[in-house]
This record gives sequence, C-alpha cells and structure tokens, in this order.
Amino acid sequence: MGRKFFVGGNWKCNGTLDEVKKIVNLLNDGKVPSSDVVEVVVSPPYVFLPLVKSTLRSDFHVAAQNCWVKKGGAFTGEVSAEMLKNLEVPWVILGHSERRALLGETNEFVGDKVAYALSQGLKVIACVGETLEQREAGSTMEVVAAQTKAIAEKVKDWTNIVLAYEPVWAIGTGKVASPAQAQEVHCELRKWLHANTSPEVAATTRIIYGGSVNGANSKELAGQPDLDGFLVGGASLKPEFIDIINAAVVKIA
Ligand code: PEP
Repeated sequence: MGRKFFVGGNWKCNGTLDEVKKIVNLLNDGKVPSSDVVEVVVSPPYVFLPLVKSTLRSDFHVAAQNCWVKKGGAFTGEVSAEMLKNLEVPWVILGHSERRALLGETNEFVGDKVAYALSQGLKVIACVGETLEQREAGSTMEVVAAQTKAIAEKVKDWTNIVLAYEPVWAIGTGKVASPAQAQEVHCELRKWLHANTSPEVAATTRIIYGGSVNGANSKELAGQPDLDGFLVGGASLKPEFIDIINAAVVKIA
C-alpha cells in the first residue's frame, strides 16, 4: 500500500469573511487528482471553521490550528478536542513552531496535546522542526528526534498522525529547504520511527514538509522518496495552492 500524498493548508491568523469565501470558491473550482492520490486538508482560523466545512468541496477536509490539552471546562479562550469532534472537524494541527516559540509550548506539552486529541478521535498534523541556530550547530536531528520522542512516549497508535517536518528557518521566509535537505531529515525521521516505534509505523506514517513551499518548488520536493506531502502556509491562501496539490506523488510504503 502506498502513502497517500497529503497537502495541508495552514491559513494561520488570516482572512476576513469575504476573503475566506473567495479562497473556498478557488478551492472548489480547482482541478486536482482524485482523493485516492491526494488528501487535502485546509486549516482556517477557528471562527471560520463551520463556514468552510459547510461550503468546501466534499473531497477536501478541514483542520483546526490547535486545541486544548485536556477536557474542556474552566479554560478561558481555549477550544477543546471534544468541541472539534462535536463539530465534525476531523483534523487538528498541533506543535506548530509559531506556538512553540511564541507561546512556550514545550515538547512534553505538545506530546500531551497530541495524545489527548487522538484519544478524542481527532487526526493530528504534528509539527517538528529546528531553528537556524540549531541547524548551524549541527543539532537538527537531535532536535526533531526529541520533539518526535515526546509524542511517541504518549502515543502507541500512529495511524491518525501525519508528521510535519517544518524547519523554522524556512517558515514564512521564502527560504525553502532544498529537496536534498528535506529528504535527509525525512529519511532520518523515518529511521527514527523504525528504531523507536515499529517498522510498520515507519513505513506507513506520512512525513510531510513545510516551509516556503510554493507552486514552483513543490514538484521537485514532492519527488523525494521520503516526502509524503506538504504543510503550506502563505501559498495556501493563493491560487498556486492548486498547483501544489497537483504536485502529488504517492510513495510506496
Ligand atoms: C507553516 O506555517 O506551516 C508554513 C509552512 O508556512 P509557509 O508555507 O508560509 O512557510
């Protein structure tokens, strides 16, 4: 069985009602491969999730950009995994570097969030990635392994996890990792999964790349053997998101 290509669109904290309607129209009109080849999941801000879910084509799905670490209750400003499940939002992005860096989310906290979201029946796009300083210090693999380990310690079943490798220095900078740089880390992450979870998890878990992916660079990146899709920020708000989806290549597991 192949690893179905996965393309996520992270809209971050962007969009007015009119802009969101325009993006949905653009997606609905886009010509893309069938859902046997590519799984497309877009992640609008919370407030637009019900609208996007109800107006988006049925072969695309939605994700929240975060959820709370445990059962909801007296946690002002948070949105629980139970609420997402209740609204039939199937996916959630967890551990994005913007939250790790700006809001102090630790590896352990992200691991707890992933485990809780999965326990409530959500599917998780779990993000890992090193900063420029860490890459220059030669500790890329150490950093992403520690981030992945914090998840693996809390999770036994990886069926509903997509692992997103997002080097922080490439996010929103226009400085994309080269296909060789991305492939190297994806391959090492797969080896890490093989050694620390199981050969089956390593063979079947989709490892996607995020960091300044666009319509022009997506094709070559998508051809790398251990690269199973993309998490796209800026370009997911533009017509080129359709080109990125069309770069899909299914990898043999
Ligand atoms: C992201 O925010 O996950 C991301 C990859 O952003 P961008 O594509 O804009 O670099």
